[in-house]
Amino acid sequence: MSQWADKQNLLLFEALKYDQPWTLDSYRKIGGYEVWEKMLAEKPTRESVIDAVKGSGLRGRGGAAFPTGMKWSFMPRNSPVQKYLVCNSDESEPGTCHDRDILRYTPHALIEGLAIGGYATNSTVAYNYIRGEFLGEPVPRFEAALKEAYAAGLLGRNIKGTGIDFDIYTFVGAGAYICGEETAMLDSLEGKPGKPRFKPPFPANFGLYGAPTTINNTQSFASVPAILRKGPEWFVQLGPKNAAGTVIFSVSGHVEKPANLELPLGIPFKDLLDLCGGVKGGAKLKAVIPGGLSVPVVPGDVMLKTNMDYDSLKAVGSAIGSAGVIVMDETTCMVRVLERITRFYKSESCGQCTPCREGTGWMNRLVKRILAGDARREELGLLLDVAGRIEGHTICGFGDASAWPVQSALKHFRHEFEYMIDHGGRSMVSDQLGAKAA
Ligand code: SF4
Repeated sequence: MSQWADKQNLLLFEALKYDQPWTLDSYRKIGGYEVWEKMLAEKPTRESVIDAVKGSGLRGRGGAAFPTGMKWSFMPRNSPVQKYLVCNSDESEPGTCHDRDILRYTPHALIEGLAIGGYATNSTVAYNYIRGEFLGEPVPRFEAALKEAYAAGLLGRNIKGTGIDFDIYTFVGAGAYICGEETAMLDSLEGKPGKPRFKPPFPANFGLYGAPTTINNTQSFASVPAILRKGPEWFVQLGPKNAAGTVIFSVSGHVEKPANLELPLGIPFKDLLDLCGGVKGGAKLKAVIPGGLSVPVVPGDVMLKTNMDYDSLKAVGSAIGSAGVIVMDETTCMVRVLERITRFYKSESCGQCTPCREGTGWMNRLVKRILAGDARREELGLLLDVAGRIEGHTICGFGDASAWPVQSALKHFRHEFEYMIDHGGRSMVSDQLGAKAA
C-alpha cells in the first residue's frame, strides 16, 4: 500500500495536515486564495479560466461526471442579465459522505472555487444549497469560513477595489433526496416544492428565477483552486485517461475501517479495500455498489479485478457515480438488500412521472412478496418488466437509478431470489451460514 501513501490528500484534503484545517490561516498555508487574489489583480479573460478548467479534464463529482469546464462554457457570459452559481451540497446519496467533510474541514477551498467559478461564468451571486441534516457541524463551519472570507475582503461588492462583485449565500434544504437533482434544487431555492423540471431549457439558459445558472457539486467547485494553483497538467497526470485527478471515496459497509479517502482515480478497488483494512473480520467479499446507491451492484470477485475510474467501472456494468463505495460481505442477503433499496426509491420519488411514482412502489411490493414467501418464480420476470418500464421513461435520472439496482441484483444474484421463492421466504445466505455453523 506504500505506493498510495504519498498520493493521499493531494488536493481536497491537503489542509488536513494542519490543526483546525477549516480556518483561513490553515487554508492560506497550502496556498489558499492565491489563485483568486491573482485573478482579482490580473483579471484574466473568462475564457482563459474556462479553458484551464477544461484542460484539467475535471468531471463533475456529483454523479453525472459531466466535464466541468464545458458546463461553465455554456453560460451566456456576455449577457447583461443577472447570472447565478448554485453549489449542490445536498449530499443525500446513500453511501456517500464526503461533501459534508469538505464543508467541515476545507470550506475555504469551496469558497475559493465558487469565487473562481463566479468569475469564469460572470456570475455575481452564488447559493450553496446544503442538506438540512448538516446543521450540526458542516453548516456552522461553512458559515464561519464565509465570515472569515468576507472579513478578509475576499468576497462582497467591489472586492479589493477591482469592481468585481461576488456574494455567497447559504441555503439549507429540508431533506428531500430529489432536491439533489439540479432542477429540483432550483425550484426548492425558489421556494417551491423540489420537483425536477423538463429539460430543455437547461439551467445555463433558464435556471434560478429564469436566469442563466451553473450548478456544480461541492467537490467539483472545491477541486478548482488547487487545479489552477498546481496546474491543469498536474491534475491530468494524477489519474488514467479520461479520469483526471483525485476524488474522495466514501467507503462504508463491511470493511474494518470505513473512511473518506482522497485518492487518484484509477486506484484498483483491491488497494482501496486494503487501505480500509480489508473486509470486516476477514470475511469473503460478496458484492460492491461502487458509486452510491444509484449505480448497479457488481459481484465482489469482479470488483477485485477492477479499477476505480469511469471507463473501468463502465466495462463491468456499473459507474463511479458519487464514489460512495458500499462493501458487502458473504453474510449479506441480496434479497433483503434489494428490499431496502427499493423502499428508499419508493419513499423518495417526487411523484411527477407515472412510471417512477407507481413503478418504484411496485418494485418494492414485489420484493416484499419474495421475502414473505408469497411470490412465484414468474414474478421475477414481472419485477424486471416493471424496472424496464421505468428506465428511460421519466423526467429525471431518479427513475433509471431506481431500476438499475433491481436489474443488476437479478443479473448477478438471481439464484438467491429463486432460492427464497422456492423455500417459502428462507434466505439462501442464512441457510448456508446455518449449515456451516452446524
Ligand atoms: Fe420525480 Fe421520479 Fe419523475 Fe424524477 S423520475 S421527476 S423523481 S417521479
